[in-house]
Amino acid sequence: MEAASVLERRNFNGLLDALTARGYRPIGPVLEAGRIVYGPIQRDSDLPIGKTDIHDGGMYRIADRPDDALFGYNLPSDSWKQYLFPPHSRLWTATKSNGSFTVAAEEIDPPRYALLGVRACELAAIRVQDTVFTGAFPDRQYNAVRDDVLIVGVNCGQAGGTCFCTSMGTGPQLTDGYDLVLTELLDGDHRFLVRSGTATGADILRELPLTPATPADCAEAEALIEHVSGHMGRMLDTDGIKDLLYDNAEHERWDDVATRCLACANCTMVCPTCFCVTTEDRPTLDGATAERWRTWDSCFSLGFSHIHGGPIRTSVKARYRQWMTHKLATWIDQFGTSGCVGCGRCITWCPVGIDITHEVAAIRTEEAVHAHR
Ligand code: SF4
Ligand code: SF4
Repeated sequence: MEAASVLERRNFNGLLDALTARGYRPIGPVLEAGRIVYGPIQRDSDLPIGKTDIHDGGMYRIADRPDDALFGYNLPSDSWKQYLFPPHSRLWTATKSNGSFTVAAEEIDPPRYALLGVRACELAAIRVQDTVFTGAFPDRQYNAVRDDVLIVGVNCGQAGGTCFCTSMGTGPQLTDGYDLVLTELLDGDHRFLVRSGTATGADILRELPLTPATPADCAEAEALIEHVSGHMGRMLDTDGIKDLLYDNAEHERWDDVATRCLACANCTMVCPTCFCVTTEDRPTLDGATAERWRTWDSCFSLGFSHIHGGPIRTSVKARYRQWMTHKLATWIDQFGTSGCVGCGRCITWCPVGIDITHEVAAIRTEEAVHAHR
């Protein structure tokens, strides 16, 4: 691991300047319409200074912090997915000429994003999507963006009410896969412990007015991570989870959750790993051109499982079971990793507060009760 250095808070804009000078477009947390979301960042004042976010099942609030932390929130409501895998994208355009059509694939020239403030669970989510989009069937658009992305991670200084990254082994500390990683230290002088993880990250650090980190700086950062690890809002017991769900496909809990689930698809939209899409052809009225668009879809949509003659998963019970079993079980068979990184967004943003950790616990507990009868 690279030796750590210290970047004083007053020099933070120097990092943004170094990113933009290299042609990156910094994207990071911004406060917008009562939520922390990801958006363009030009100066430190664009960050949600002194703000935090309170999460629980179906509940989200912005609150003031007693300090001027730049990254003192838990997790934005949206994820990096929208930049790497946009919600709407045109795949190709067909143009009619002399009685036939010429099809041109969409030209791809994405910006070079610097993702600023990537949490450990979010980097894990990006890696999960990497397995989907860079594997046997590489996705042109995803890879065009992903190849040039610079990742500036920020270790968590607190855990939100719906966080359970420690259960999923994805956080709260970034260990690799970043270009730069920061830990915001607020005791005494406001400063950042910073490390590089790549040659590009190291080049950027050479341009900044850094001082070597002291043992006290490193100890403060380690204590912070330990504190966060011990204060997760949620816990999910993953022991044997694949078989647990496979063995309980007919469990009565699926009927119970179906009475609460609205099939609104919020959980899949906010989930940083969900990747289901649909395609739509849009011809012009004169028939001269047609376009094919790709749009995020959800396994909670009735039409998503339409094959021929009708949808396969007609009930909400079947759709919730499909989603949760895919996340926590079949994803492991499909991609060799869990589809859940423990970010908790699906819990916070479910309008009726359905909680994936509670649903697993209910199945596990009731199975244990049956086993002892
Ligand atoms: S399933 Fe929920 S907790 Fe897991 S990664 Fe998706 S949104 Fe986050
Ligand atoms: S679990 Fe919640 S967020 Fe997901 S579809 Fe059902 S009601 Fe909507």
